[in-house]
Amino acid sequence: MKITHVVCQILRLKSVSAKTASSQDAVLVRVRTDEGLEGIGEADASPEVVKAIVDAPFSHNIACGLREILIGEQALETERLWRKMLRRTMYFGRTSVTIAAMSAVDMALWDLKGKAFGQPIHRLLGGKQHERFKAYASILFGRDGHETHDIARRWVEAGYRAVKLGWEPMGTSAEVDLDLVRGGRLGAGDATLLVDAGCVWDARTALRRAKAFADYDIEWLEEPLRQDDVESYRWLRDRSPVPIAAGEGECGREAFRPLIDRRALDVYQVDLSRCGFTDAAYIRARVEEIGARLCNHCYTSPLTVAASLHWLSTCRDAFLFEDCVEDSPLRHELTHERLQAVDGYISVPDGPGLGVTLDEEFVRRHLVAESGT
Ligand SMILES: [Mg+2]
Repeated sequence: MKITHVVCQILRLKSVSAKTASSQDAVLVRVRTDEGLEGIGEADASPEVVKAIVDAPFSHNIACGLREILIGEQALETERLWRKMLRRTMYFGRTSVTIAAMSAVDMALWDLKGKAFGQPIHRLLGGKQHERFKAYASILFGRDGHETHDIARRWVEAGYRAVKLGWEPMGTSAEVDLDLVRGGRLGAGDATLLVDAGCVWDARTALRRAKAFADYDIEWLEEPLRQDDVESYRWLRDRSPVPIAAGEGECGREAFRPLIDRRALDVYQVDLSRCGFTDAAYIRARVEEIGARLCNHCYTSPLTVAASLHWLSTCRDAFLFEDCVEDSPLRHELTHERLQAVDGYISVPDGPGLGVTLDEEFVRRHLVAESGT
């Protein structure tokens, strides 16, 4: 089964606001083959930058766009194609958005592989160990503790037994930070509460906050420090009374390697739209080996939700699933299948490949750029 087309599509909502939420646009990579099958993937990064990495023409042997690398290749050979993409993008790749673009391709290739064999991806990854997960409603803080209380309460009343609140205005001051977490706990009641700081403190401030937040029984403190500060994560993890989670910004295995080697985290958050199935399988094996825990990160479309469910279901110690509840049409209408928790639990899809199908009418209405058709 040979690759004939690598189509890249950018979708964007009519109105985009200034907030830390990547469900306002999407970049899809659709890999088509000579047998008529199509696999679909996405990357969570700036869509136009991802598209440029797919579209770039041949410059030289280690500076070449992804489409040119892939056309004519055997679609099922995911590991070899990952390595080929890695090598042939060395002069603009190896890290960050190039790996994210490769992840969109890899997600599409695994979707194709599942469709070709008539099997769900979790089976091809070795078999699922979970049928469903306790989902946490993932949402941003309110402007203060009062508004945060109402947000947490809303999602508990919607049936969630776990809520994560994150980002702005956390980091403003000790008073504001405490007020937000106190409000979140009051609103969440006895549900699981997770706090996502959004990379705002130095290590000593983070430790002070971790000790203060422990009184509110938080399940984990996420991204207290800037993403590259591996040594401070290790220092903090050794001292914090609450588990430390991070990893959502890391693209691929090489980015996770220092965190894993240094045992810097309690919970490793893997985004399939930045790691693909190929590198996520490696990360799973390494993290399970050191006795730490894994969770998905996902704030984009149902494609990555489905990918996350397939991958996380193969992780032995998985215990929670990030279910973004940002109210975006991209989250609710891009696929015919609705992938969202019901009564606080989200089920793993069992259809071939990712097990989801695009609503082409929705794609057409939100399409702002397309290449490779
Ligand atoms: Mg986060």
